[in-house]
Formats: sequence, C-alpha cells, structure tokens
Amino acid sequence: MKENVEIFLFVDALGWELVSKTNFMEKELPYRRKIEMQFGYSSTAIPTILSGRRPAEHGHLGLFRFAPEKSPFKRLGWLAPLMKPASLWNRGRVRHWLSKIIARLYGFTGYFQLYQMPFKKLPLMDYCEKQDLFALHGMGEIENLRDLLSRQNIPFHISNWHESDQTNFDAARRAVQEGASFLFIYTAELDGLLHQYPVLLHDVIRKKLEWYQEQVEAIFKVCCECGRKLRLTLISDHGMTPLTQTIDLKTAIEKTPLVFGKDYGACYDSTLFRVTFLSPTAEGVIRDAVKPFETKGHWLSVEEEKHYGIYRPDRLFGDAIFLMNPGIQIVPSDMGSRPLNGMHGFAPEDKDSQAVILSNDEIPPEIHCVADFFCLMKQRILAL
Ligand SMILES: [Zn+2]
Repeated sequence: MKENVEIFLFVDALGWELVSKTNFMEKELPYRRKIEMQFGYSSTAIPTILSGRRPAEHGHLGLFRFAPEKSPFKRLGWLAPLMKPASLWNRGRVRHWLSKIIARLYGFTGYFQLYQMPFKKLPLMDYCEKQDLFALHGMGEIENLRDLLSRQNIPFHISNWHESDQTNFDAARRAVQEGASFLFIYTAELDGLLHQYPVLLHDVIRKKLEWYQEQVEAIFKVCCECGRKLRLTLISDHGMTPLTQTIDLKTAIEKTPLVFGKDYGACYDSTLFRVTFLSPTAEGVIRDAVKPFETKGHWLSVEEEKHYGIYRPDRLFGDAIFLMNPGIQIVPSDMGSRPLNGMHGFAPEDKDSQAVILSNDEIPPEIHCVADFFCLMKQRILAL
C-alpha cells in the first residue's frame, strides 16, 4: 500500500460566494482560490472536468440539441399524440419514470432526463449524454479520467455518480482502507438544495456544509489510522444565482409565423436560448422577436463563444445563443415549467457563478478555470 493518498472531492454547486461567506473548512483546507466556471451547466462542466477539454471539443453544452438527422428519438414520434392530457404527462414524477424507461429502451448509460422537453419535439432532438462519461472510453476518442487512471498502474477509486453523497463518502473511506492511491469522490446533493435555498444561508445549507466537513474529517481520520498521508483537493463546477425575474421567451418565439422544425429549431435552457435558423427569413424574424428581451440578456458574439470555449464552426450548439442576465430565468423552458429559487448557467464571470478549489496543499498558480482541474489531476496521478 502506497503511503500517499490523493483525493479530488467534487461538490456540485459549491460556489465561491458560499465558501467565502461561510469560511467553509478554512482551517482544514487553507489553500483556496476562486475558479472560473465553465460556460454552460453541470452537464457541460462534468465532461470538462473529466477530460480537460472544453465544449468546443467535447461537444456537450445543453443536454438537448436540435438535430433531426441525429435524433435517437425519431421512432418516438407516434408517442406525442397519445400523451394527453399534457398536464398529466408533464408532471415531474411521470417524466422522471418515463426518462428511466426511455434510457433503458435505448441503452443510455449516461445521465438521462426528459425534463420538460415537449414530446412532439423529441424526434427532432439529439441528447449529448447518452454514454456514462465516467466509464472507460465513456467520452469516445477523448481520454477521460478513468482512461488515464487505467493506463497507470495505481489503485484508484471513482465514485458511482448514481449513488447518494453518503454512499459515495462511505465507499471512499473503504477504498482508502483497501489501498486506493487516487480517489475522485463525486457529490451532487448540495446542488439540489441550493436550487431551493440560494438566497439566505438557510439552515438546510448550513447543515449540509457541516455534514461535508464531517465527511472530510472522517476521511482524514481513516488515512491517519492507516498511516497514510492525504492530500485533499475540493473542486466545484459553479455557484448558484438567486432568481430575480422570469421571462417568457418561448411564447414570444412561438407567436411568430415561423414553424418549428421547418423554419427554425431551438432549445430553451433555463438561462440560454439556442437557435438554429433553417429558412431564409427565420433569423430576422427571431432576432426581432427577441428584441424586447435585449435588456434582460444578450446574443453571444463569436468572440464570447471563443472565450467561453463553446465556439464550433459547425454550429453544433445552434447558430445563435441568447444568454440571460444573472438571476433571470427563461420560464417556461425545456428544462422546467416553473422557475427555481436559484439557477446556474449564467455568465461565468458573474460573482455568483464562480466555482472553487480548496486544498490542504498549495495549488499551482496556473489553475484558474474548471478545465484546468483535469491537468491538475493528471499531474498528481503521474506523480504517484
Ligand atoms: Zn443544478
């Protein structure tokens, strides 16, 4: 058993604002830095953390994208007319179970949720996370964390992302006892809580942070008992921005004479409107329809897309992307029919978007954005 243990603990949505307001684990993890969020959502950040590549390269931005020719759901076209009344089929719990059935039918091993994507649009949509990103060759040609670890002759442990935070911490402690030298612990429950309680430091959040602290302390204790030296690096993907306002961009677009799938294609994420122009008049009509919302958000320039690592000459993510100002959510969207108290997916430079890196050891100066986490993990793995 090697003496050194290297742990990367991922805490979804642990933002710099929350960490600095609460002095979270300041004593245990005194080396700390604000990290620029990867533009997009967790579904964008996770493949970025696991590969060091940005969306322009790995192709994950929103979960859905308008791509009729690539849609795996073409055969589901007959379902839409049967899904009535819509109020029943759009209920969260019903959609959750339908998502499980569809994932099973299609053999999807990645995270799959229908959210509120309308059934009639589904046959025109592709879904980016069909494969388990954490699995061996889970990102195809792109090397992911497990590919890298499997090439090295070191015992490692990567959490099962399907499991609860508690199960993942329990499994990590066992892995340390059994001799793992590198661990990637995945936890996502804080994100769900912050979507509900983002504004004040609610008791629920305070308790969850204390719980994380206890779990980390327990890992240090296990390492100490095994006579092993632990370097722990806590990383996150983004923060959480409290809701300030909602806008109904979808109705405004659907009020135009344009036909979805013929004149244009679109995805309405909670904070992004991604549109593909199909007919010659579509771009002008859509940009006019969006004009009244231009004080609430803006169309991304090519320079911004390049800066955020999401520019693709093939326009995989849409011909144009409209980003909402921090705090303003698109409601209804393909993600939900109601707003959430907190949301992420706004401009990375906004204070509430910032992610973190916290460690009990020095953090190299070149680590400043989410895509850099993989480089750091790689450095540490190769040094083990
Ligand atoms: Zn979230």
